[in-house]
Amino acid sequence: LLALEGATVRFGGRAVLDAVDLEVAEHEVVCVLGPSGSGKSTLLRVVAGLQPLDSGRVSLDGRDQAGVPAHRRGVGLMFQDHQLFPQRDVGGNVAFGLRMHGASKPEQAERVQALLDLVGLPGASRRAVAALSGGEQQRVALARALAPSPRLLMLDEPLGQLDRSLRERLVVELRELFGRLGTTVLAVTHDQGEAFALADRVVVMRDGRIAQSGTPLEVWQRPADAFVARFLGFEN
Ligand code: ATP
Ligand code: MG
Repeated sequence: LLALEGATVRFGGRAVLDAVDLEVAEHEVVCVLGPSGSGKSTLLRVVAGLQPLDSGRVSLDGRDQAGVPAHRRGVGLMFQDHQLFPQRDVGGNVAFGLRMHGASKPEQAERVQALLDLVGLPGASRRAVAALSGGEQQRVALARALAPSPRLLMLDEPLGQLDRSLRERLVVELRELFGRLGTTVLAVTHDQGEAFALADRVVVMRDGRIAQSGTPLEVWQRPADAFVARFLGFEN
């Protein structure tokens, strides 16, 4: 579904993405791990069409995306800082992506309901987003990203601000949901436990490069190098 070949982004002469090759197959759930500043958000922005490449290419379904604007790529992105529409209520935010797909009002309301139940905010549809806590806003953003069922769903620290018990519950529910819907997912997280629970494949980034890519078990049992091992918390 998704392929990056030699994807490179430079800021002020420094390669923030450094010749990254990455493929994501249909229905695959891939989690990107790595320290702060390693290029994880930049990777998602490149795929979403929000950040141009200095060299290399991004293709979706075998088609080069150079020059294809973000809204034409059919990918969903939930930002790290979630960026809700403050003037719309919770339901209005979640329904945003549905409207463009021509869903009827009752269909929209039903789907918004189901999505809000899923993220643990049942009945919150008419609430103002400004009156929600950071974690609640994050859950609304997650529901909004899921709403249009994009062919590739990208999540940047989707559970970052939530408390541990809610995160653990949501990881299980998301895993089940993605499996049921066959959603292809590229998600960034700081939390290895989350990545290992959610992902078919884990990608560990370091300084704009992919240090290792493999199943959670492979990465856990055979870290590619000392950096990956240290990042996973092994003392060796
Ligand atoms: P975090 O875990 O903190 O979110 P990240 O892995 O998502 O980090 P990126 O946001 O991709 O990291 O940033 C990678 C590097 O690129 C950082 O050093 C950042 O300062 C730099 N960078 C990102 N965007 C820009 C920009 N627009 N201009 C200049 N430098 C940038
Ligand atoms: Mg980031």
